[in-house]
Amino acid sequence: MKLIPINWQNIQTVFLDMDGTLLDLHFDNHFWLEHMPKRYAEKHSITLDKAQKTLMANYQAHKGSLKWYCLDHWQETLDMDIVSLKHEVADRIALRKNVIEFLEYLRVLQKRVVLLTNAHNKTVDLKFGYIELEKYFDRVITAHDVGLAKEQSGFWQALQNMEDFDKKHSLFIDDNLDVLQTAEQFGIVNLLAIHQPDSQQGIINTGKYKAIECYTQIM
Ligand SMILES: [Mg+2]
Repeated sequence: MKLIPINWQNIQTVFLDMDGTLLDLHFDNHFWLEHMPKRYAEKHSITLDKAQKTLMANYQAHKGSLKWYCLDHWQETLDMDIVSLKHEVADRIALRKNVIEFLEYLRVLQKRVVLLTNAHNKTVDLKFGYIELEKYFDRVITAHDVGLAKEQSGFWQALQNMEDFDKKHSLFIDDNLDVLQTAEQFGIVNLLAIHQPDSQQGIINTGKYKAIECYTQIM
Protein backbone atom coordinates (compact mmCIF):
# COMPACT_ATOMS: atom_id res chain seq x y z
CA MET A 1 0.00 0.00 0.00
CA LYS A 2 1.40 3.35 -1.05
CA LEU A 3 1.78 6.20 1.39
CA ILE A 4 -0.42 9.21 0.68
CA PRO A 5 1.66 12.29 1.47
CA ILE A 6 -0.06 14.76 3.79
CA ASN A 7 1.72 17.93 4.83
CA TRP A 8 0.58 17.69 8.44
CA GLN A 9 2.32 20.92 9.42
CA ASN A 10 -0.05 22.70 7.10
CA ILE A 11 -3.19 21.14 8.61
CA GLN A 12 -5.00 22.65 11.60
CA THR A 13 -8.42 21.04 11.46
CA VAL A 14 -9.34 17.51 10.42
CA PHE A 15 -12.98 16.97 9.47
CA LEU A 16 -14.00 13.31 9.46
CA ASP A 17 -17.13 11.67 8.19
CA MET A 18 -18.45 8.74 10.24
CA ASP A 19 -20.28 6.06 8.20
CA GLY A 20 -18.12 4.52 5.48
CA THR A 21 -15.14 6.60 6.61
CA LEU A 22 -14.46 5.70 10.25
CA LEU A 23 -17.10 2.99 10.51
CA ASP A 24 -17.79 0.18 8.07
CA LEU A 25 -20.68 1.16 5.79
CA HIS A 26 -21.81 -2.45 5.88
CA PHE A 27 -24.02 -1.78 8.92
CA ASP A 28 -25.92 1.03 7.16
CA ASN A 29 -26.30 -0.82 3.88
CA HIS A 30 -27.45 -3.93 5.68
CA PHE A 31 -29.87 -1.96 7.80
CA TRP A 32 -31.55 0.05 5.03
CA LEU A 33 -31.39 -2.51 2.22
CA GLU A 34 -32.03 -5.75 4.09
CA HIS A 35 -33.20 -5.36 7.67
CA MET A 36 -35.71 -2.56 7.08
CA PRO A 37 -37.38 -4.31 4.11
CA LYS A 38 -37.63 -7.49 6.19
CA ARG A 39 -39.37 -5.73 9.08
CA TYR A 40 -41.50 -3.62 6.71
CA ALA A 41 -42.69 -6.75 4.93
CA GLU A 42 -43.63 -8.33 8.26
CA LYS A 43 -45.48 -5.22 9.41
CA HIS A 44 -47.58 -4.97 6.25
CA SER A 45 -47.81 -8.70 5.50
CA ILE A 46 -46.33 -8.24 2.04
CA THR A 47 -43.51 -10.02 0.23
CA LEU A 48 -39.90 -9.00 0.80
CA ASP A 49 -39.68 -8.07 -2.88
CA LYS A 50 -42.64 -5.70 -2.61
CA ALA A 51 -41.28 -4.20 0.61
CA GLN A 52 -37.90 -3.59 -1.05
CA LYS A 53 -39.51 -1.88 -4.04
CA THR A 54 -41.68 0.34 -1.85
CA LEU A 55 -38.78 1.35 0.37
CA MET A 56 -36.42 1.97 -2.57
CA ALA A 57 -38.94 4.33 -4.14
CA ASN A 58 -39.22 6.12 -0.81
CA TYR A 59 -35.45 6.33 -0.38
CA GLN A 60 -34.89 7.59 -3.94
CA ALA A 61 -37.35 10.42 -3.48
CA HIS A 62 -35.22 11.95 -0.71
CA LYS A 63 -31.69 10.88 -1.57
CA GLY A 64 -29.03 13.46 -0.78
CA SER A 65 -31.41 15.66 1.18
CA LEU A 66 -31.50 16.24 4.90
CA LYS A 67 -34.74 14.24 5.06
CA TRP A 68 -32.99 11.15 3.72
CA TYR A 69 -30.68 11.30 6.73
CA CYS A 70 -33.43 12.15 9.21
CA LEU A 71 -34.47 9.33 11.46
CA ASP A 72 -37.58 11.17 12.62
CA HIS A 73 -38.68 11.53 9.00
CA TRP A 74 -38.49 7.77 8.40
CA GLN A 75 -40.00 7.01 11.75
CA GLU A 76 -43.00 9.13 10.84
CA THR A 77 -43.27 8.19 7.15
CA LEU A 78 -42.92 4.46 7.70
CA ASP A 79 -44.45 4.37 11.18
CA MET A 80 -41.61 2.21 12.46
CA ASP A 81 -39.31 2.58 15.44
CA ILE A 82 -36.06 3.06 13.51
CA VAL A 83 -33.81 3.34 16.58
CA SER A 84 -35.06 0.02 18.02
CA LEU A 85 -34.68 -1.62 14.63
CA LYS A 86 -31.09 -0.39 14.42
CA HIS A 87 -30.34 -1.88 17.82
CA GLU A 88 -31.50 -5.27 16.48
CA VAL A 89 -28.58 -5.44 14.04
CA ALA A 90 -26.08 -3.34 16.00
CA ASP A 91 -23.58 -6.21 16.15
CA ARG A 92 -22.68 -5.15 12.61
CA ILE A 93 -21.47 -1.70 13.68
CA ALA A 94 -17.71 -1.86 13.29
CA LEU A 95 -14.65 0.34 12.97
CA ARG A 96 -12.65 0.36 9.77
CA LYS A 97 -9.06 -0.80 10.05
CA ASN A 98 -6.60 1.31 12.07
CA VAL A 99 -9.13 4.07 12.78
CA ILE A 100 -8.30 4.30 16.48
CA GLU A 101 -4.58 4.38 15.69
CA PHE A 102 -5.24 7.25 13.28
CA LEU A 103 -7.37 9.18 15.79
CA GLU A 104 -4.66 8.74 18.42
CA TYR A 105 -2.10 9.97 15.89
CA LEU A 106 -4.16 13.13 15.33
CA ARG A 107 -4.29 13.65 19.09
CA VAL A 108 -0.48 13.44 19.29
CA LEU A 109 -0.20 15.96 16.44
CA GLN A 110 -2.63 18.19 18.39
CA LYS A 111 -4.96 18.74 15.48
CA ARG A 112 -8.50 19.91 15.99
CA VAL A 113 -10.61 16.87 15.12
CA VAL A 114 -14.24 17.38 14.15
CA LEU A 115 -16.71 14.65 13.30
CA LEU A 116 -18.80 15.95 10.41
CA THR A 117 -21.64 13.62 9.59
CA ASN A 118 -24.94 13.53 7.75
CA ALA A 119 -26.10 10.94 10.23
CA HIS A 120 -28.94 11.93 12.50
CA ASN A 121 -28.02 12.81 16.09
CA LYS A 122 -29.90 9.73 17.32
CA THR A 123 -27.83 7.53 15.00
CA VAL A 124 -24.62 9.17 16.21
CA ASP A 125 -25.63 8.53 19.83
CA LEU A 126 -26.54 4.93 19.02
CA LYS A 127 -23.20 4.27 17.36
CA PHE A 128 -21.24 5.97 20.14
CA GLY A 129 -23.02 3.57 22.49
CA TYR A 130 -21.51 0.59 20.72
CA ILE A 131 -18.11 1.95 19.66
CA GLU A 132 -15.89 4.06 21.86
CA LEU A 133 -15.32 6.90 19.44
CA GLU A 134 -16.70 10.09 20.93
CA LYS A 135 -13.69 10.84 23.11
CA TYR A 136 -11.45 11.34 20.07
CA PHE A 137 -13.34 14.38 18.80
CA ASP A 138 -13.03 17.98 19.85
CA ARG A 139 -16.47 18.49 18.43
CA VAL A 140 -19.30 16.53 16.81
CA ILE A 141 -21.35 18.34 14.16
CA THR A 142 -24.22 16.74 12.28
CA ALA A 143 -25.86 17.99 9.10
CA HIS A 144 -28.99 18.44 11.18
CA ASP A 145 -27.11 20.91 13.39
CA VAL A 146 -26.04 22.81 10.26
CA GLY A 147 -29.45 22.62 8.57
CA LEU A 148 -28.12 21.30 5.27
CA ALA A 149 -26.78 17.93 4.08
CA LYS A 150 -23.06 17.87 3.33
CA GLU A 151 -23.65 17.43 -0.41
CA GLN A 152 -25.79 20.56 -0.60
CA SER A 153 -24.21 23.83 -1.71
CA GLY A 154 -24.15 26.30 1.13
CA PHE A 155 -23.25 23.62 3.65
CA TRP A 156 -19.68 24.82 4.22
CA GLN A 157 -20.67 28.48 4.34
CA ALA A 158 -23.20 27.59 7.04
CA LEU A 159 -20.58 25.50 8.85
CA GLN A 160 -18.26 28.52 8.96
CA ASN A 161 -20.78 30.31 11.16
CA MET A 162 -20.54 27.47 13.68
CA GLU A 163 -16.93 26.34 13.55
CA ASP A 164 -13.81 28.44 13.09
CA PHE A 165 -11.59 26.86 10.43
CA ASP A 166 -9.35 27.84 7.54
CA LYS A 167 -10.27 26.04 4.32
CA LYS A 168 -6.64 26.02 3.16
CA HIS A 169 -5.52 24.41 6.41
CA SER A 170 -8.21 21.76 6.75
CA LEU A 171 -8.27 18.11 5.78
CA PHE A 172 -11.60 16.46 5.04
CA ILE A 173 -12.09 12.71 4.65
CA ASP A 174 -15.42 11.35 3.37
CA ASP A 175 -16.53 8.28 1.40
CA ASN A 176 -19.28 10.19 -0.45
CA LEU A 177 -17.98 11.71 -3.70
CA ASP A 178 -20.85 14.22 -3.98
CA VAL A 179 -19.92 15.45 -0.53
CA LEU A 180 -16.25 15.79 -1.50
CA GLN A 181 -17.21 17.74 -4.59
CA THR A 182 -19.26 20.24 -2.56
CA ALA A 183 -16.27 20.68 -0.23
CA GLU A 184 -13.94 21.16 -3.18
CA GLN A 185 -16.22 23.80 -4.73
CA PHE A 186 -16.16 25.66 -1.43
CA GLY A 187 -12.37 25.60 -1.45
CA ILE A 188 -11.29 22.81 0.90
CA VAL A 189 -7.92 21.89 -0.55
CA ASN A 190 -7.06 18.65 1.22
CA LEU A 191 -9.63 16.00 0.39
CA LEU A 192 -9.51 12.23 0.66
CA ALA A 193 -12.00 9.54 -0.30
CA ILE A 194 -12.32 5.94 0.91
CA HIS A 195 -11.34 3.01 -1.26
CA GLN A 196 -13.87 0.49 0.05
CA PRO A 197 -16.48 2.06 2.36
CA ASP A 198 -18.47 -1.18 2.76
CA SER A 199 -16.27 -4.17 3.64
CA GLN A 200 -18.81 -6.55 2.10
CA GLN A 201 -18.86 -4.79 -1.26
CA GLY A 202 -16.30 -3.92 -3.91
CA ILE A 203 -13.95 -1.00 -4.13
CA ILE A 204 -15.40 2.24 -5.50
CA ASN A 205 -14.03 4.42 -8.27
CA THR A 206 -13.18 7.68 -6.53
CA GLY A 207 -12.16 9.47 -9.74
CA LYS A 208 -9.93 12.45 -9.12
CA TYR A 209 -9.95 11.98 -5.34
CA LYS A 210 -7.17 10.01 -3.70
CA ALA A 211 -8.64 7.20 -1.66
CA ILE A 212 -7.52 5.65 1.61
CA GLU A 213 -7.33 1.87 1.79
CA CYS A 214 -5.90 1.91 5.28
CA TYR A 215 -5.24 4.84 7.61
CA THR A 216 -1.60 3.82 7.97
CA GLN A 217 -1.17 5.36 4.49
CA ILE A 218 -1.50 8.86 5.90
CA MET A 219 0.29 8.35 9.23
MG1 LIG B 1 -20.13 8.44 4.77
